[in-house]
Amino acid sequence: MPPEANPCAARGVCDAGPVTDRQPEPLDRSRSKAAAERAARVIPGGVNSPVRAFRGVGGDPVFIKEAKGARMTDVDGNTYIDLVGSWGPLILGHAHPDVVEALAQAAARGTSYGAPTVGEIELAELITGRTPCEMVRLVSSGTEATMSAVRLARAATGRDKIIKFAGCYHGHADYFLAEAGSGVATLGHPDSPGVPAAAAADTIVVPYNDLDAVEAAFAAHPGQIAAVITEAVPGNMGAIAPLDGFNEKLYSVAHARGALLISDEVMTGFRVAPGGLAAPADLYTYGKVMGGGLPAAAFGGRADLMSQISPAGPVYQAGTLSGNPLAVAAGLATLRACDDAVYRALDDTAAEIQRLAAEALAKAGVPHYVSAPSNLFSIFFAEEPVTNFTEAKAQDTAAFGAFHNAMLEHGVYLPPSAFECWFTSAAIDEEALSHIEQALQPAAEAAAKVRS
Ligand SMILES: *Cc1c(COP(=O)(O)O)cnc(C)c1O
Repeated sequence: MPPEANPCAARGVCDAGPVTDRQPEPLDRSRSKAAAERAARVIPGGVNSPVRAFRGVGGDPVFIKEAKGARMTDVDGNTYIDLVGSWGPLILGHAHPDVVEALAQAAARGTSYGAPTVGEIELAELITGRTPCEMVRLVSSGTEATMSAVRLARAATGRDKIIKFAGCYHGHADYFLAEAGSGVATLGHPDSPGVPAAAAADTIVVPYNDLDAVEAAFAAHPGQIAAVITEAVPGNMGAIAPLDGFNEKLYSVAHARGALLISDEVMTGFRVAPGGLAAPADLYTYGKVMGGGLPAAAFGGRADLMSQISPAGPVYQAGTLSGNPLAVAAGLATLRACDDAVYRALDDTAAEIQRLAAEALAKAGVPHYVSAPSNLFSIFFAEEPVTNFTEAKAQDTAAFGAFHNAMLEHGVYLPPSAFECWFTSAAIDEEALSHIEQALQPAAEAAAKVRS
């Protein structure tokens, strides 16, 4: 085995040799642990977004010092192959030279003007050129994009209620925090205190992939539903494939009832393909990749709908830092660098990691289901295929926790939750893949040990 294929050697804590021959020294993460304790005194739970804590897998979060390409280095000097990519944005890997250069140049020209720039037009043109949207409004987070899209849908239809799917996550606006995915699922909250009953009452939650339930919701609330909102391909309860034609049928059902369809592509946009999934819908939301690691997001759709947004129309929507020049520069550099080769690399890498993980888990006798509707995928520790949130929740989260901890010990940073996608990047090369392969066997064995 070449030394670089040995994760133990790659992380510099022991000399080269087959990992199976010996128990590696546990990683020293004492500085991360101290940082977690210090953080918890001034930041709730020690993190600024809940999934960053390791509550879903046990253990302490890793504090990152720097990252480059496929690798992140923590404050103790341990290096990890990153399969989170900042939860989606970093499709090119960390500190891509084009993005760093674009940011340096933009910063030198000033960080924010509160006045329009040509860069915003370029980004909007790039998005409308690749997606079904005729017009877009730039915002700073996926949460703002989905909130604004719902406001517009309500204004355009004169109705208040929305239908969302259990396990889908659309950011943290009040009316979306009903059986939401992502951190809400990881932490097992059914919903959140602080959400007024009236806000939740306008949200109808139905099981994903269940068209009959959507029809029944429309029948139960005639003339009251403004929109159905769906993730183009759900990724926040783990990756789940829409049944054949599901998005198309949703569109026609919504339209038959005078409602709009909002396709949330914050996770899939510019990642699963150059223009996202681009299933038929009235409004689309984007984020993550389009900001290249800086806060940028967007909502968009047909010109007749988008023209109702202020100041073209009466539907209010605003943001001090919307279309921020640094975020726009990072987004433009990222999207411009995303050529066919990048998408091919993402697809190939995703397929290879799935194959390696399935092989390791099968060898260790751990039941698993590889759910890969796109280059966003999840490995559920489940016996049966997973098609909705109820089935996703039935997976063996304890086995995932042990698997996650062992992957981390062997230098691979996976999402610290069984309800998230594994995010690949174009920076994952052969060496990184062989590192992942080396980590998978001990991780699968660790999962086998705790299997409930
Ligand atoms: C991440 C995500 C959001 C929220 O985006 P933020 O930038 O975190 O506010 C909304 N919808 C989907 C599908 C997401 O994956």
